[in-house]
Amino acid sequence: AGGSARLYTEEDPLVILSGGSLKPTITNSSSAWLVQFYSSWCGHCIQYSSTWKALAQDVKDWQEAIAVAVLDCAQEENFDVCKEFSIKFYPTFKYFRAHSLSSDRGAIHRGADREIQSVRQLMINVLQNHTKLDWPQRCPQLEVYSSAELLPLLGQRSDHYTAIIVEEPDSYVGREVILDLLQYSGVQVRRALSSDRPLLDALNIAAFPSIYLLHPNGTHAHLHSEKRLRFFFSSLLRALPGVQRRGGSAAAQMGAPQDKQTSEPWRDFDRSRVYTADLESALHYLLRVELAAHTTLQGEELKVFKDFVTLVAKLYPGGGSVVKLMETLSDWLLSLPLEQIPYQAVLDLVNNKMTISGVFLGAELRWVGCQASRPGLRGYPCSLWTLFHVLTVQHDATPTALDNTGLEAEVAPVLQVMRRYIRTFFGCKECGQHFEQAAAASMDGVTGREQQVLWLWNQHNRVNARLSGSLSDDPLFPKAPWPSPALCPSCHEEKNGVHVWNQGNVLRFLRHHYGAANLSPKYSL
Ligand code: FAD
Repeated sequence: AGGSARLYTEEDPLVILSGGSLKPTITNSSSAWLVQFYSSWCGHCIQYSSTWKALAQDVKDWQEAIAVAVLDCAQEENFDVCKEFSIKFYPTFKYFRAHSLSSDRGAIHRGADREIQSVRQLMINVLQNHTKLDWPQRCPQLEVYSSAELLPLLGQRSDHYTAIIVEEPDSYVGREVILDLLQYSGVQVRRALSSDRPLLDALNIAAFPSIYLLHPNGTHAHLHSEKRLRFFFSSLLRALPGVQRRGGSAAAQMGAPQDKQTSEPWRDFDRSRVYTADLESALHYLLRVELAAHTTLQGEELKVFKDFVTLVAKLYPGGGSVVKLMETLSDWLLSLPLEQIPYQAVLDLVNNKMTISGVFLGAELRWVGCQASRPGLRGYPCSLWTLFHVLTVQHDATPTALDNTGLEAEVAPVLQVMRRYIRTFFGCKECGQHFEQAAAASMDGVTGREQQVLWLWNQHNRVNARLSGSLSDDPLFPKAPWPSPALCPSCHEEKNGVHVWNQGNVLRFLRHHYGAANLSPKYSL
């Protein structure tokens, strides 16, 4: 790799420091810092970068207590600062306590084991090395609570949940979950030890680690978790009603959906179902709003539109009016010898056909699974993801559906059409660019229908990870790895202390979740 190779980019969930920003960043910071000084020409650093990125993602929510950064000592502008900080080998890990002085040069971590779990535990040790005086401002208490402190809380009302994690002395799970919930309000997490007999007796706990939950209304009980893993515990706590990601965004202050100021009534729905109302609203928005911005369709645009309509006509599950409309539209588009169609003609056809033949596509938007806590969130992009997931699963279930359409020759036709649609028409240009980058990087590697389903799932999770905590994150539907442990426990495993997916079970789950039988017509027009 050349000296200019960039191992880390702004897209990575970590801070890229430089000669100019290192000291101002760490000096008197309210959080601690873990900085990897690397060199972009060092082969080991190049290999290690994927681990470091995975670590940064793993502890992204801890950053107000301890943040992860990198600094490239191979960049000329960084030569001086690397010398000043005595960096002799790459990579060198240094940590800086919160409230460091400008003269602090950090402490070197010399552990041989640089795996995610070890570094994560090091981060916790670094935090616990602070004293009361220099404790990172936003870092919660990580020490053990005793039965004497915890038992009096039983039966008390409160404005938040209290989760008590009871664990063996050498376990880090409790502290990891405490930090995982750092950005969330509505729940406080405490840890206690398996050696605390009075606590075990009072709460009737015999297996470790366990979570015991005190509800705001004063009731308390075990929190059942399919697996005793950090990821399960954190996901369950984040999903408690009323627990929300804190955020500077106005959305975070909105409260319950019932309070929102729109005429639309809230529609209760089940997160384990897919709603046809969302799919129909996606098509409605796409046809009547997104495409309408293009006054004429010609050349590549026309081709992309035709392919999209064909794809939906052939793969939209369950037949019905949507398929009828798409078939009509598809036949009409294919029969036209024109190189250019005014978009109004498409709209007229959509509107006329619907009234003449009883073919019907919702006359209004009606979000169900894609409802948001306030306007401007979720809705259309949520439904577009949903639509394409459904189409990948349907293509997997009915491989011959695209025969004789011209799309059958493509290896991953649903992804390719989606890619072209997003690139050509999707109103969010930046989203389109991100998606195009991802597609260019890995879509060609998809060699079959199952991989097509999994590629889209994986890509969607990458977007979720990037957006979690951002302004487009609806606090009532915080972006998180999907499916959650509650939706699919068998999809999740842990390897060397790091969360891993069981892809076979994920595929099975996706086939079920986005399959025709799981589509709910409730709330449909
Ligand atoms: P969404 O992410 O829209 O998900 C909708 C539903 O799909 C979820 O409620 C869940 O039931 C299910 N789901 C979630 N994850 C998965 C998964 N991994 N596999 C299968 N199903 C899943 N916004 C930006 O700000 N920046 C971007 O770069 C960006 N890129 C985008 C690219 C594309 C192609 C699309 C369609 C949207 C993009 N968006 C982007 C919008 C963003 O991804 C969300 O759609 C939007 O913020 C609404 O989020 P949501 O909470 O409704 O959930």
